[in-house]
Amino acid sequence: MIHRYTVIGQPVRHSLSPEIHALFGELTQRRVGYTRTEATPETFVDTVRAWQRDGGRGCNVTLPFKTLALEACDRLSARAERAGSVNTIHMHRDGSRVGHTTDGIGLVVDLETNLRRPLAGERVLLLGAGGAARAVVEPLLAADAELLHVANRTAARAEALAARFAAEGPISGSGLETLDAFAPFDIVVNATSASVAGELPALPEGLLAPGALAYDMMYAAEPTPFLRWAEARGARVADGFGMLVEQAAEAFAIWEGVRPKTRMAWARLQALRPSRPTRPNEGEDS
Ligand code: NDP
Repeated sequence: MIHRYTVIGQPVRHSLSPEIHALFGELTQRRVGYTRTEATPETFVDTVRAWQRDGGRGCNVTLPFKTLALEACDRLSARAERAGSVNTIHMHRDGSRVGHTTDGIGLVVDLETNLRRPLAGERVLLLGAGGAARAVVEPLLAADAELLHVANRTAARAEALAARFAAEGPISGSGLETLDAFAPFDIVVNATSASVAGELPALPEGLLAPGALAYDMMYAAEPTPFLRWAEARGARVADGFGMLVEQAAEAFAIWEGVRPKTRMAWARLQALRPSRPTRPNEGEDS
């Protein structure tokens, strides 16, 4: 029997998840079918229920439904509950739906395993305080960074995010305009949506420590303004394509009980990358 999965979003036509999961099925010799499903905020919860009723074993949830997805679940993993974000729903035989978040672990695996940049003892800057930032804070802290500083255009949101996770490790928050007081950083992760609009967050000089890694969660055919800014200042740069792959591998492991060996298929996965420049509002995360 084919195990059926889907990604639910709006828009969802550009999602690479069906191709990624088809490859995972091949790598693990599992019979999986994976489609795209468009929904609206009004239809999202019913769409999830209908997918399960029709025999679906799970779904991924992408923009803009990761918070709404909490309502579509009967239970949440501890991490999804703390993050207030669900990107993977596991539909069990007893009819229950359990919500997970794999974005943060996907980022950490990409940084530490694929890019070989351990977080332990590093000064890490997370730019942005929206849904994507909230979903990655706990896994970043769990990786033993010396400091995780959250900086956001709207300072109050960064401060609130830091306060929310204060019990989990060394975390602070500020606006972008006071960021230089905390610099320099060894790893800078851009979790703002500025790149989707082709914009660069207002960043101070002196932000990057020698040998720093700059990482943009957004991925596209062309380097984002943030990555170009960082590269011009001598940083090593990477985009969020690896995070996309690794969050998908974690979701696959939740559903199928086996984690695809992503490194073994890296060249084939890279071939799925967008091949033309991403237009505004086409940034994706699943
Ligand atoms: P949200 O809308 O929830 O948050 C947007 C954030 O970006 C806010 O902190 C906002 O600041 C900030 N921001 C927007 N424009 C600017 C700007 N011009 N300058 C500075 N800050 C700005 O979005 P998400 O958190 O859901 O998504 C953020 C990005 O992460 C997207 O590009 C998404 O595609 C990507 N992503 C990638 C994933 C992957 O697997 N590779 C997984 C998840 C997300 P303010 O609070 O002041 O408005």
